[in-house]
Amino acid sequence: MEELSTADFMAKLVALCKRRGIIFQSSDIYGGISGFWDYGPNGVPLRRAVEQAWWKYMVEDRDNVEGLDTTIICHPEVWRASGHIEQFSDTMTDCLDCKKRYRVDQLEQQGVCPNCKSTRLTEPREFNLMMKTFVGSVFDDEHVAYLRAETCQPIFVDFNNVRIATRQKLPFGIAQTGKAFRNEINPRFFTFRSREFMQMEMEFFCQDNKSMEWFEYWRQERWNFYTQVIGIPENKLRLHWHEKLAHYAKAAVDIEYEFPFGWNEIEGIHHRGTWDMSRHCEFSHQEQDCKVFDQDTKESFFPTVVETSCGLDRICLMLLCNAYDEDTAETKKADKDEDVRVVLHLPLRYAPVQVAVLPLSKKLEEQAMAVRKTLRQNYRTVYDDSGSIGKRYRRQDEIGTPFCVTFDFDSLQDQAVTVRDRDTMSQVRMPISELPAFLASKI
Ligand code: ATP
Repeated sequence: MEELSTADFMAKLVALCKRRGIIFQSSDIYGGISGFWDYGPNGVPLRRAVEQAWWKYMVEDRDNVEGLDTTIICHPEVWRASGHIEQFSDTMTDCLDCKKRYRVDQLEQQGVCPNCKSTRLTEPREFNLMMKTFVGSVFDDEHVAYLRAETCQPIFVDFNNVRIATRQKLPFGIAQTGKAFRNEINPRFFTFRSREFMQMEMEFFCQDNKSMEWFEYWRQERWNFYTQVIGIPENKLRLHWHEKLAHYAKAAVDIEYEFPFGWNEIEGIHHRGTWDMSRHCEFSHQEQDCKVFDQDTKESFFPTVVETSCGLDRICLMLLCNAYDEDTAETKKADKDEDVRVVLHLPLRYAPVQVAVLPLSKKLEEQAMAVRKTLRQNYRTVYDDSGSIGKRYRRQDEIGTPFCVTFDFDSLQDQAVTVRDRDTMSQVRMPISELPAFLASKI
């Protein structure tokens, strides 16, 4: 693909996602609402596939991690204990000339607007990121509640319920996936910084003297997840160690991906010390729910927490950025032999559609549908009989469908179909009976 500027690349990706029903702006017909995105018919399978891969890797494949699904709204004291109500804010400054707003810690040159280079910036101001709502019929201060800003706090609150129900002993983890809400001042880069987004978090509770070993273990596991399970090349990922640590933390590292708009965080792995459990103990006064009993010393203590925290939408965006490509393909257009082809080279496991069944003529519907019916038992499939075969291939390339199965008139006789590969565009003829084994070897 020819080199594109960041703006051009992102404009093309956003347009493709809308055109093909992957992701589009929420409330589009009202002009959209900044920082909110809807996943369309081809975005939902992608996002679900990634979420399922995470859940399997983090919960189902392990004996020492339990799953949880808590509410989005919880007791407001949770957010006082976590420090979000007092401290969860970004320090922002506005450019008085071009009117753009920036996070002070992200300015390349302090006091200078990155857009218009003006030095007329306002004094830094704090903006709280919590989203407020009311629970009950009266909209007053007593009924204020908050949409969760991260999925981990309710995990801490439910720690003892889970521990008792599962009879887990330290060390063990609790994981959940779900919506989080932040009143981001500057939503940008498509879904990268949204106001409503999906998090996937795991809190691992352990003894303090083993916590750095666990930190290292999870750092490695999470790196392996991106390289081996999600399929991102190692050279597109890097670790960013935090130099400035929270007073309670022993280590913190981000996994970053090289987005078209630069290296940016997709996941944080944090040593959180005993901070969360001790704060919830202080605010709830329920010591027995926040501490565990040590049989050897006969004393109760706060477990130390190692957290892995990533954003599902950022992983999907990473996959899309990594997959987007433009190459050339044969065309039957007048005066042209070749045409630009937009293709998503998505890993087969995450492609919204894994097999498209394309009959050469509408007359072949019955037999082609029968092939599709068999394949859909194991794969995400579509049936498409409209337009020329070339146009249909292009449609499938644009959503990253790895295989197109073409059923033609010969298929009626030889019970064989043509399988076209998205990446190489090569076509092979194969008996219908061999299709399941072929696909199983690939997907
Ligand atoms: P950033 O510095 O980019 O704002 P953060 O350090 O505040 O991120 P965390 O609070 O550690 O992020 O959240 C964990 C993960 O949740 C992030 O690594 C990211 O993948 C995801 N995430 C956080 N904020 C957003 C957002 N506004 N939109 C989409 N995903 C987000």
